[in-house]
Amino acid sequence: MAGTKKVAVVTGANRGIGFETCRQLAKHGMKVVLTSRDKEKGSAAAERLRSEGLDIDFLPLDVSDDASVQEFARPIKKTYGRVDVLVNNAGIMIDGKTRDAEAGTGVMQAKVETLRLTMEVNVYGALRVTQALLPLMPKDDARIVNVSSGMGQLSDMNGGWPGYRISKTGLNALTRIFADEMKQTGIRVNSICPGWVKTDMGGAGATRTPQQGADTIVWLATAPDVPTGGFFRDRKPIPW
Ligand code: NAP
Repeated sequence: MAGTKKVAVVTGANRGIGFETCRQLAKHGMKVVLTSRDKEKGSAAAERLRSEGLDIDFLPLDVSDDASVQEFARPIKKTYGRVDVLVNNAGIMIDGKTRDAEAGTGVMQAKVETLRLTMEVNVYGALRVTQALLPLMPKDDARIVNVSSGMGQLSDMNGGWPGYRISKTGLNALTRIFADEMKQTGIRVNSICPGWVKTDMGGAGATRTPQQGADTIVWLATAPDVPTGGFFRDRKPIPW
């Protein structure tokens, strides 16, 4: 069992914003379970953070695979017995290459299969992992942070990257649904947009560092007075 430390699980954490989120949560004194669909990459990433003196474990997790999620939940229950923070960070954007590529794919060229694959990771992945871990989350104070995107905002919806946009709108809907169903408990569920972040997904032209991208995630996961059922960027609410 975990002892007195809070336990955090981060999906898609072998690189990018997820990796940095693990680092920052561990610096907040949490035991962090870094997860990755690729065992070697995940183990190496966890080892890198351990070499910084941080309390990091690694477990494999492919959020698009039911069996992988079930297999993951077993050692989580047995080894730690609880999950205080879940960050649904794993995501793909496969409409276009990267956000600073010349153009994303327009909706007229969109392939249903691309949308299906994107939903499988960005929406159903978050749903699967949340369903598997929610029974292990303390009802008095636990946090679920869904890493969404401004590209999913209906209030500012533009063309291009339809699979990615639709998936992030769907993820935001999941946030609202879980937040409402959990409202009688202390489990707070929120969406965040990290801004445009220099990662494999964001590309070299992005304006923010992974440290900046992870900041609001960690704030929602740790600050005592955050609300539930909101969408945030830079620690401030933004429209859906
Ligand atoms: P990234 O560097 O491309 O990292 C994505 C992570 O998700 C990788 O670790 C990847 O693993 C993992 N992943 C993909 N499919 C998975 C699956 N089926 N199961 C488990 N893990 C899976 O991207 P990032 O920029 O850090 O993005 C993190 C989150 O922030 C995403 O949800 C993204 O949509 C969101 N976001 C990013 C930006 C930005 O500008 N970067 C802006 C808004 C929102 P592999 O290494 O195995 O592929």
